[in-house]
Amino acid sequence: MKSIACRVIDYLAPQFCIYCDQESYRPEAVCEVCRDALLVNDQACPKCALPGTDGRICPNCLKAEPALKTVTAAYEYDPAIAYLMHRWKYLKDRNLSLTAAKMMLNTEIRIKSADIVLATPLHWRRRLRRGFNQSEDLLLSLSRLQPSLQPTPTKVAQLKRRFATKTQAHASRRERLNNLQGAFTVVGDVRGCSIVLIDDVCTTGATGNAMGRALQDAGASEVHLYCLARTPSP
Ligand SMILES: [Zn+2]
Ligand SMILES: [Zn+2]
Repeated sequence: MKSIACRVIDYLAPQFCIYCDQESYRPEAVCEVCRDALLVNDQACPKCALPGTDGRICPNCLKAEPALKTVTAAYEYDPAIAYLMHRWKYLKDRNLSLTAAKMMLNTEIRIKSADIVLATPLHWRRRLRRGFNQSEDLLLSLSRLQPSLQPTPTKVAQLKRRFATKTQAHASRRERLNNLQGAFTVVGDVRGCSIVLIDDVCTTGATGNAMGRALQDAGASEVHLYCLARTPSP
């Protein structure tokens, strides 16, 4: 049941669905019909969330054990998600973080409780240019909806990006790994801690694995990554 204040705000500043442009009387910017038409990533590799494996472990994960224990992506990255990401990141529509969080939790995804929950960091220069880190915004919105993700004062750690990495999408596997070697450092004590990482989109899995490796090297017991969407194999 909505409060009177919320109804007044809806009336004065109605939300429009970013896909169909229909007026919606909900705080999200994607209407239920358009949300339900998105490709849910529920037939993915349980290790790296690669879409379309019928739930089986993909050949890459069989070949080399990933540093992340699991990666879970709510949706397949398709043109509809690309459009949402464009508006969110490049047109700087920060309200979309709540929409993305609700979209994630509307699927079967249940984010594990962990000792520490972290957002994928942006390099400071990229963050300065964009003005915000969309993964941090996503974590903030998720933690409002799922209070178990809120930080505990006793366990504090940070993941930092030491240098900006090149775009990963067209790089070979070896180039990706070389690009990311030593890209992340861990600040704080994560020894024996379970970690949940939150990211907007998982493209190649290489960034997630580099973060997982850095956290494991710092003594984390297990690292899980959750994201809004995962790209299919090229
Ligand atoms: Zn719509
Ligand atoms: Zn896999």
